[in-house]
Amino acid sequence: MPTPLERDPGLPVPDPTVPFWQLPPHSLASVSSKKFQSSTDVVIIGSGMTGCSVAKGLLDGDSKIRITVLEARGLASGATSRNGGHIVSPSVGDFAELVECFGVKAAVDIAEFTLNNIEMTFDAVGEFPESSLAKYSKIRPTTKVLAYADQEAFNNAQKSLQLWNKHMPSKRKDHFKLVSSEEAKTELGLHNVVGAGIGPGAAVWPYRLWCGLWSLLLDRYHDRLAIETFTPVHAVADAPATEERLGRYVVKTSRGEVGASHVVYCTNGFTSHLLPTLRGKLFPFRGTMSAQDLGLSVPNHGADRSWSLLSTPHVDEKSGVRSASLYYLTQDPDTGYMMLGGEYEKPEDLVCSDDSKVNSRSAEEISKVLPRHFETPDPPQMKSLWSGIMGFSRDGIPMIGRLSAEVTGRREGGEWIAAGFNGYGTGYCYSCGLAIAQMLLGKDVSGWVPSALTITKERFQGSLSTGKFWDGLVGPSVDAEPRSKL
Ligand SMILES: Cc1cc2nc3c(=O)[nH]c(=O)nc-3n(C[C@H](O)[C@H](O)[C@H](O)COP(=O)(O)OP(=O)(O)OC[C@H]3O[C@@H](n4cnc5c(N)ncnc54)[C@H](O)[C@@H]3O)c2cc1C
Repeated sequence: MPTPLERDPGLPVPDPTVPFWQLPPHSLASVSSKKFQSSTDVVIIGSGMTGCSVAKGLLDGDSKIRITVLEARGLASGATSRNGGHIVSPSVGDFAELVECFGVKAAVDIAEFTLNNIEMTFDAVGEFPESSLAKYSKIRPTTKVLAYADQEAFNNAQKSLQLWNKHMPSKRKDHFKLVSSEEAKTELGLHNVVGAGIGPGAAVWPYRLWCGLWSLLLDRYHDRLAIETFTPVHAVADAPATEERLGRYVVKTSRGEVGASHVVYCTNGFTSHLLPTLRGKLFPFRGTMSAQDLGLSVPNHGADRSWSLLSTPHVDEKSGVRSASLYYLTQDPDTGYMMLGGEYEKPEDLVCSDDSKVNSRSAEEISKVLPRHFETPDPPQMKSLWSGIMGFSRDGIPMIGRLSAEVTGRREGGEWIAAGFNGYGTGYCYSCGLAIAQMLLGKDVSGWVPSALTITKERFQGSLSTGKFWDGLVGPSVDAEPRSKL
């Protein structure tokens, strides 16, 4: 019997919750070609921020390449438009853990990669100065506040920051400064925290950013880019010898088959439905998000700020509920709504691929976070509540690269993956997508892509099988419990 981490995530459900970000739907939300093409050069499965970045990298990098994007639901309607809108590198808070798991060099390379990724995301928007994408998506720099709710979490942050300042290149040193609980109260208006870190951050309306980029790509490359929404992929197979002229792989969808020379999996939490050998190594994780209105009488807590509230994960002995280690928050500059997410749930409800439901305990808990940490004379009004499916990897870092026959069970050479962003897509996806595009086009990426992110045979059999990065949040009980029943 599979453990929860090893379960088949299935296809994205057809009736997901509707996030605040997705209203109104983009004009390309249901885009598809009049005639479904039976062959192409590259099939990209998934139209989120990763799929969009792969497509951009390929189309910019090769003037002849033809691409078909296959998306199970609406355009960019997965985690990409269900997230917190927080453009953030996870590496500052996680630096000590990265050093412990992967060594100093890999930790520094990963941190640099994520910080560069944020700059590159802004550059991508800047590439289209004639468009109103920057304004439309509200992409903006912020002051990032990392607030700590308990002493243990703050101590860990201090340790992480010391290591950061010791090992990171000089231009990144003093990236974050730590302040006391008193300063957090007077300078940031934060209550009930033991201290905070302050540094550079950014925020965005994510659905608008990625649908907007897809739209600009379609304008620029309409003769070589086909996007087929509401076209779930059921399987990928080796093409039979008689069909090889259409491509070495056959991608089987609800609307027919597509032959392709390359297939790129940008399916994040759902990937192991199509690649069963990844079950247990890459698993779905359901997150909860909300838009809350504090009312006009309340001072603006800073649309120019983005916040993370961190605490030490805690397990309630009686209920088995595992509290989150993180709540995250941005503020919409126009409505003033607080976009707040975080988890407080039993592990089996977190390791889940159904975003038609919202974790009820998490929903209750996130309605209490704002009054706990900010002065809110009136209780916040819940304007929108939704869930989304992330892809978590067993060892806590993304997996990118060409897939071996050991993973696919098919002929090697043309299947690629970029997935497992562990809740931090904006820190990774754009660069991971561009990296896959460059690899596929035969370019050397070793100068800028950390080798630790590559999905090698050693990693597949090693840290992706045995890693314990997420045990504090989802396990080991989630893994150990069903095993003990065998
Ligand atoms: C609640 C929540 C809050 C988050 N907050 C933040 C945040 O503030 N900052 C941050 O950096 N990150 C955040 N994240 C994570 C971030 O959104 C993801 O890491 C990122 O969107 C991953 O992008 P992706 O393109 O790889 O995956 P997705 O956007 O999930 O795209 C994958 C796509 O593949 C499609 N698909 C799957 N299987 C198939 C199939 N068989 N056939 C066809 N299509 C298929 C799906 O429908 C989906 O559209 C959050 C995520 C959630 C859910």
